[in-house]
Amino acid sequence: MKKDIVSLLPDELAAAMAELGEPKYRADQIFRWLCRGVRDFAEMSDLSKALRDRLNEKFFIYRPTVLSKQVSQMDGTIKYLWALRDGNAVETVVMSYKYGNTVCISSQVGCRQGCAFCASTIGGLVRCLEPSEMLDEVLFSQLDSGKPISHIVLMGIGEPLDNFDNVMRFLELVNHPRGMNIGMRHISLSTCGLIERFDDLAERDLQLTLSVSLHAPDDETRSKLMPANRGRGVDALIAACRRYTEHTGRRISFEYAMIDGVNDTPEHARLLAKRARQVGAHVNLIPLNHVEERQFRPSTPGHMKAFIQILEEAGVNVTVRRRLGSDVDASCGQLRRRMQKNNAASEALD
Ligand code: SAH
Repeated sequence: MKKDIVSLLPDELAAAMAELGEPKYRADQIFRWLCRGVRDFAEMSDLSKALRDRLNEKFFIYRPTVLSKQVSQMDGTIKYLWALRDGNAVETVVMSYKYGNTVCISSQVGCRQGCAFCASTIGGLVRCLEPSEMLDEVLFSQLDSGKPISHIVLMGIGEPLDNFDNVMRFLELVNHPRGMNIGMRHISLSTCGLIERFDDLAERDLQLTLSVSLHAPDDETRSKLMPANRGRGVDALIAACRRYTEHTGRRISFEYAMIDGVNDTPEHARLLAKRARQVGAHVNLIPLNHVEERQFRPSTPGHMKAFIQILEEAGVNVTVRRRLGSDVDASCGQLRRRMQKNNAASEALD
């Protein structure tokens, strides 16, 4: 079985070279090539032909290709659909803010969490992404777009805590001083609330921002919208958030997609304010993106305004997420979904 060389950390690469009887600096040479986006041993011109042949025997290396690239006419947001080694596809979005360029990456092909408003989960989980595949989403988005990436959000397709080990390794890779060197404080990880992994994450003592997709402050509404809430519950989620904050000293952010008539009443706002205060969380409101297959609609501006007012009066720190790239289907899962539908349609025609 060939091993995935791009998923190796520099120390592991050094160990692999030692095993091949090669000097340690070979690992540095290879790591430099990999960081530059070289994905073919033949192009590593400072290695001997003999070593390149041995690398080819022991390792595989792959370069994701662009299946589609859409650039927003409104704000320059770029949405990539990448083809992976096995023919699967994932989405990556590059957004430009005043403070720099942020890439939103996928952590799985599909998702098994089943959130009722989300396009990524239709069709379920296909597989987890390897650390190298997540790294390549960041690296090749940067190389292709020419925009230096300074921030990462794990808010694309998939549930990062359902791919825990690979995501942790990806974080180490992308944060490595000799690699892309993206600071943990510039990275956000978003979860639907797999609380059994919160303590593991806290123990890593990473300085990243944990975003919790709350979307409802009560069990009845949240369990309807998010199957991950069933059997866990909002109280347990809040307790896990508090432990996380106490351990790491990092403020959690609650994501809250506003859905017309579902989670946007004044009563929801009051309970949300209470929950946010319990955790000291920041609340990020997102106007729901309409997904064709889903019956949900975004809240009206009037309801949003009233909702925000209740939160602010309760002393909760609240922001409304700007919608970027709405002309390029930039809410994650929608592009991959469209491709699946097109494929299904063309298969039906065959
Ligand atoms: N699985 C992770 C990360 C992926 S989704 C999580 O659940 O957090 C990133 C964010 O987009 C989550 O907050 C998710 O709930 C939200 N989201 C999904 N579909 C959406 C939609 N149609 N409109 C607005 N936000 C949506």
